[in-house]
Amino acid sequence: MTATAFICPHGDKVKITDCLKSCVKKQRCMFLPTLRAIAQSLERNIKEPTVTELLCGIRETYLKKTTDYAVDPMQQLYALHGSAVHTINEGFTEGNILSEERLADEVTSGKFDLYGQIIDLSDKTLGDYKITSSYKLMRALGYYKVDVPTGEVYKTGLRKGQPKTRKEWRTDGVRHILDWAIQVNYYRILLEQRGFKVESMKIQAFCRDFSLRIAEERNIRRQVYIININKISDRWIKLYMETKAKRLKEALEKGYLPQLCTPKERWNDRKCRDYCAVAGNCPYGRLVKAGMKQAA
Ligand code: SF4
Ligand code: SF4
Repeated sequence: MTATAFICPHGDKVKITDCLKSCVKKQRCMFLPTLRAIAQSLERNIKEPTVTELLCGIRETYLKKTTDYAVDPMQQLYALHGSAVHTINEGFTEGNILSEERLADEVTSGKFDLYGQIIDLSDKTLGDYKITSSYKLMRALGYYKVDVPTGEVYKTGLRKGQPKTRKEWRTDGVRHILDWAIQVNYYRILLEQRGFKVESMKIQAFCRDFSLRIAEERNIRRQVYIININKISDRWIKLYMETKAKRLKEALEKGYLPQLCTPKERWNDRKCRDYCAVAGNCPYGRLVKAGMKQAA
């Protein structure tokens, strides 16, 4: 199954085919070519689960493969922006650069963005583009705030005599990039299986809310960051992906709803509430949306 409906700006759903024939509202929320491009980007021609599908919760991927669902075209624009960035770079991959090749093995398949001389003219780097939020970027870069004493003390009030502090940024925190690291490492394995040596892995992350004050409050000062991805053992990555692929395959063959997505996969319910396209087809998602589940 696939996305069959768009969610209009005020929340009603309309079949994608109907929307593309004629807007059911007073005014189109986007140009027709943009909506057509979004509709095309939603078409799934690959039967086997891809690397990105396996990184999601098994239940989410199962529901996307077995039920019809609706998507908000505004949310899909980010994915479309990602494709636009690929297109911009595509015209400039002369030299020893491969781009956007889909590679497969017996477990899954994945399309890497760039491989080869993408940092300088002598390297063999695997690169991936991401368009992401300042929140995700702050966590991916390992940024966090600490309280630093100012040397002064409160002279009045409840905290009289206690030292005053101010917030300062630190950039050596834990980098929350496991999902990106698993994805890129799997592309590395697929390339190495074909004899391509991968010397380093990097993500070029664009901050989509860079112009908002919230990005500055999260210490995001640039629109683009290059993030180094460390190697994860092939054995661990393969075991992780094989286990998820096996569980998904079994659920699809036997036709049962897989176990609940993990708290990490469902972003402690934030995804179920606001971002999971199949939440309406998931018993747990419906409870969260109805306010009957508190975030874990
Ligand atoms: S153009 Fe926008 S508002 Fe009109 S039917 Fe399609 S999704 Fe709804
Ligand atoms: S609603 Fe939550 S638990 Fe259900 S599929 Fe979506 S992310 Fe997973």
